[in-house]
Amino acid sequence: MNATLPQNARVAYVSFHNNYNTMAVHLAFLGTGTCCATSRKPSATALSDGNEVLCVDFGGGAYHQIARLGRPLFNYRNISTVFLTHFHVDHISGLPDLLWGEMWDYTGRREDPITLVGPHGLKNFYEQRLLPFLGDYPMPFEVNIVELADGASYAGSFYTMVSYHLEHGEFSTGYLFVCGDARIAFTGDTAYCGNLVRLLGASSLAVMEWSIQDTSRHPGHLSADDVIRLLKEGALPKKMFANHLYLPADTTFEEQVARNRHVVAGFPVEFYFPVDGDVFENIIG
Ligand SMILES: [Zn+2]
Ligand SMILES: [Zn+2]
Repeated sequence: MNATLPQNARVAYVSFHNNYNTMAVHLAFLGTGTCCATSRKPSATALSDGNEVLCVDFGGGAYHQIARLGRPLFNYRNISTVFLTHFHVDHISGLPDLLWGEMWDYTGRREDPITLVGPHGLKNFYEQRLLPFLGDYPMPFEVNIVELADGASYAGSFYTMVSYHLEHGEFSTGYLFVCGDARIAFTGDTAYCGNLVRLLGASSLAVMEWSIQDTSRHPGHLSADDVIRLLKEGALPKKMFANHLYLPADTTFEEQVARNRHVVAGFPVEFYFPVDGDVFENIIG
């Protein structure tokens, strides 16, 4: 198996051996919205092999949303790792619920560690913003902090991950999870850039922001114009999940999805516009 890696990828740490032919991987959308007050919660997505659960971003409500799924595949107690794409509030605001809830879980306090993985600045974010928010309560379980440079990798029980530095404020990062034959990309928030093209080009399935609905270029986010460019360049995998839609005034989510479907019509890419609570089982197959 080959994947296109960032130029400075530390390949020595990446296992692309296909050890997982029989694995099943499941994808759940906990929050598909933005910071705006809509019926869709801020960004949070989960991947699971039925045992370990990892999340990419953890916006407000994500902790209770994963319980609301009611799926054993996505048991909140099995959350091992949260990958943060960046530290904007709509991508991290559920973390206090996670740490506080696991601290006081009435059915049994967490004993397993939680690992937070993110770009440079994660340690500062954890110590200066997250811990003070929780108040003067010592953490009863281990919280591991892993800061990754562009191209660095990290491995869990069913995946190997490579990080791609993207363009959205300082140190914003996308992730490529290699799970058996599947390569699953998460963009977080980003503008069009070379590393985005490399990340998406290396993937077989991607969860991508599509913040801006018109065809203007927008600093730090993807617009319809960028999506068309990516499609014309053949940079997108066959299966795309687009989220993080900022809706124009007087436009419903359903109306905007219809417009977006019109934008991508005719290209050989299957687009999904998930809503909160959507679960896709066996996405590798
Ligand atoms: Zn952001
Ligand atoms: Zn955002």
